[in-house]
Amino acid sequence: MKIICIGRNYVDHAKELNNPIPKEPVFFLKPDTAYLPNNKVFFIPSFSSDIHHEIELVIKINKIGKHIQPKFAHKYYHEITLGIDFTARDIQQECKTKGLPWEKAKAFDGSAPIGTFVQKSQFQNMQQLSFYLLKNKEKVQVGNTADMLFTIDQIISYVSQYTTLKIGDLIFTGTPAGVGQVQVNDILEGYLEDKKVMQVKVK
Ligand code: MG
Repeated sequence: MKIICIGRNYVDHAKELNNPIPKEPVFFLKPDTAYLPNNKVFFIPSFSSDIHHEIELVIKINKIGKHIQPKFAHKYYHEITLGIDFTARDIQQECKTKGLPWEKAKAFDGSAPIGTFVQKSQFQNMQQLSFYLLKNKEKVQVGNTADMLFTIDQIISYVSQYTTLKIGDLIFTGTPAGVGQVQVNDILEGYLEDKKVMQVKVK
């Protein structure tokens, strides 16, 4: 299983990090060792003093595909959930400044907690899904897939030009504004359309 993440897919988030608005999707990968099952504890790695939460809609690929056309992309996933793209912001900044890849900041163990999957058929429109993240019961990130720069179908099509999508692969579709630092003992809870689908405790 591979985890594909889309960066800068919400304008307000790109702006909060002073990043340019991309003209085509930006993507990077996390290894399978980044996967953290729902309700497990996330341990802050010793190499960073600035781990940020990024709540994101996650889709699970259910069919192998390459060069998928946008009009067929919806057939390649049936289940969705929320996940957190944990990011070592201090390390990422260093990598960006040096023009280096981001993996050290993004691909570390446990950096991809994933919630419980739900059938997408229970929702009317994939591009009108609201979601939010609570940190210690306080709403810190609020998003709606209507605000994506690139739709889920466009993302699937784009990524599949470069890398074959396989059954079980996960795609993080980008984070809305409101990213911020996590601390030991924080409880993070993700809500998709007001239904809680994920939780992670920080240690
Ligand atoms: Mg992200």
